Amino acid sequence: MAATSIKKLLKTRNLKATELRMALLEIMSNLGKAVSYQEIQNSLTNFDRITLYRTLNTFIKRGILHKIIFEDHQSFYALCSMDCTTDRHQHQHVHFQCNQCKEVSCLEAKEPIQLAISNHFVDEIEITASGLCQECNK
Ligand SMILES: [Zn+2]
Ligand SMILES: [Zn+2]
Ligand SMILES: [Zn+2]
Repeated sequence: MAATSIKKLLKTRNLKATELRMALLEIMSNLGKAVSYQEIQNSLTNFDRITLYRTLNTFIKRGILHKIIFEDHQSFYALCSMDCTTDRHQHQHVHFQCNQCKEVSCLEAKEPIQLAISNHFVDEIEITASGLCQECNK
């Protein structure tokens, strides 16, 4: 994402384009995949950890990023699509972690994911899957 697009995105979410916000979104969009918290922290060493953590949470609240937590409690962050808004995330995808290279990706399901549970209104579905990614499965 170019700096101008990042600025525009922040503006639509009523956020000021601070140096950290810009840097964080640039990294996320350049990598184009889900990034672990560790990886983000390592790329932004010149920023304070607490501020970084707060910025990530702000982005989640504003529908810019979403967080993925796996069983081993490692957290990953991924950019949202434009369908996500300030009040609502709209995800219809599966979070896949490769058992071999440990990369995490957001995979669109071929068909809309629907889950019916009696007497409950399902608003969000979190699905994590594991196996071998395209690269490792060659
Ligand atoms: Zn989202
Ligand atoms: Zn892999
Ligand atoms: Zn995702």
